[in-house]
Amino acid sequence: MEKPAALEELIQALRCLPGVGPKSAQRMAYHLLQRDPKGAERLASGLTEALACIRHCARCNTFTQAETCSLCASPRRDAALLCVVESPGDLLMMEQSQSYAGLYFVLMGRLSPLDGVVKEVILATNFTVEGEATAHYISEMLAGKGLAITRIARGLPVGGELEHVDSGTLAQAVLERRPA
Ligand code: ZN
Repeated sequence: MEKPAALEELIQALRCLPGVGPKSAQRMAYHLLQRDPKGAERLASGLTEALACIRHCARCNTFTQAETCSLCASPRRDAALLCVVESPGDLLMMEQSQSYAGLYFVLMGRLSPLDGVVKEVILATNFTVEGEATAHYISEMLAGKGLAITRIARGLPVGGELEHVDSGTLAQAVLERRPA
């Protein structure tokens, strides 16, 4: 017997969850429809609601419903410390460890050279002392990961910041990038 189209669609949709294959997706779908229609409704409205109101914090990039998240808005956090994490889940883990009182930046993913997603990382930080140090630090961090790491060319004025350069000059600098 063929499954109703809507049921098949639900099963396929559930497969977007991590670690859920065809069999578990089917089990979940039947469970929701057969045993827990209330839970299913809550799940559906929860998803719709979250998709509509959750956005990225303007400062740290984590999920929030406001312009900035409660962590960034808190005066009790030590603004001299910044912890870079991969995901909001990692941020939560750090918070639960109660070992850190600074601010965060959430990458929302990571460089995954093994997946072959990223092949080249172009370091386009400013040609200021801080920008150069940042580029150097990142290139050291990424060394040996099978990535091409390049730095935009010095066509830019020394000490120059990207935002003050015209787009033609910047385009040339990207074109003439060299191994970092
Ligand atoms: Zn934030």
